[in-house]
This record gives sequence, structure tokens and C-alpha cells, in this order.
Amino acid sequence: MRVNRILEETYAEGPGRRMCVYVQGCSHACKGCFAEKLWDYSGGYECSAEEIITKLQQNSDSLDGITFLGGEPMDKAGELALVAREAKKLGLNVITFTGYTYEELLKSDNGGIKDLLEHTDLLIDGEFREELLDYSRPMVGSSNQRFIYLSDAISKEDIAAYKNRFEIRTDKNGGLTFNGMGNIKKLQKYIKDLSEENNDTD
Ligand code: SF4
Repeated sequence: MRVNRILEETYAEGPGRRMCVYVQGCSHACKGCFAEKLWDYSGGYECSAEEIITKLQQNSDSLDGITFLGGEPMDKAGELALVAREAKKLGLNVITFTGYTYEELLKSDNGGIKDLLEHTDLLIDGEFREELLDYSRPMVGSSNQRFIYLSDAISKEDIAAYKNRFEIRTDKNGGLTFNGMGNIKKLQKYIKDLSEENNDTD
């Protein structure tokens, strides 16, 4: 499957310490999407479910769960279901984001989607809608998006206790990458101020 990146550990994509798979490719084209570079189905790089499972097995002792987002995870549902199945075997919880609604997914005759839903503990559904911008709840950016609890592995209380955050990393070329959820404009201003401050001290 095409993925954009994989974080082997993050605290910014759901409760606890998690692995996170950002899949490449999305056809929802939500206005105001902050992940436009993940729309192109030919972008990113190829990574098999087996490779992700190997990383998961190597790190499972220190992880609480795995999060699938993107991009549109349901477009890769069959392969992600294999990863989710292994995650559950390893005692980890599974969060899956999707731009589809739960009702649309339930109507699908795609076996991979059914399988991924069966191995997902928390589904976060719905397109991002700019006109409904709302950061008052964690992990989502618009008020139409819903938390669908498909098992008791993650509770409403777990989500209520979780606070939005960003993580900023430097890549091997010295560039900055970030992940997480929150007010992106504030983050962009922070990075701009930081960069200007660094230039002033050069
Ligand atoms: S579903 Fe997510 S990644 Fe796809 S366009 Fe909407 S906000 Fe962007």
C-alpha cells in the first residue's frame, strides 16, 4: 500500500503511546484540508502490511495502540485490517480515522472495510468541514466528525482526558515535520516566530 509516513511512536495521535500510519491517497478533497499532499494516490512510498506488522511486533511492549489516518485509511482497508488484527493479538488498541460516515461504511460490500471495522476500537468518522471548524474536542477539527466506540478498549473518558498536542521533529535534512492536532494557524505562527528568532541570532 502507499503510505506517506509511519511514526513508530507518538503521543499526539490518540491516548497513550502509539504507532501511527499515515496512508497516502484521499479522494474526499475536503475544503481547508491540512493534509493536501496526502491526496495524491501515487505519492508517498510503498510499504506492505507485513513490514508494518514487523515494526509493530518489535515495538509492541512499549505501545498502547496504533492509529490509522491519512489520506483515507478505508481505501487501504484490507491491508490495514491485517495490521489491526495483529495489533489486537498483541493487546494494542486501534483507532481508525475516515472521511466516510460510519453509515456509509456499513453499507459497503467491501470485505476489507468490514474486516477493518471489526478490528477497530475507535472509529473517527466524517469529512473535515471548514465551515464547522471546532477544536473544542480532541483529535478532530470540525463538529460533524464523530467518535464511534466499537469496543470498550477505548472509552469516552479516555478521549475526554486526552488533550490535543503537536509534535515537531527534525528530519535527516534538517527540515521540520509535525504531527498531531490542534489550532494549525497557531502552530504555523509559532514556527514562523521561531524561525525569525533563529535568523536574528545568526
Ligand atoms: S478526509 Fe482527511 S485527508 Fe482527506 S481531504 Fe478530508 S481532511 Fe483531508
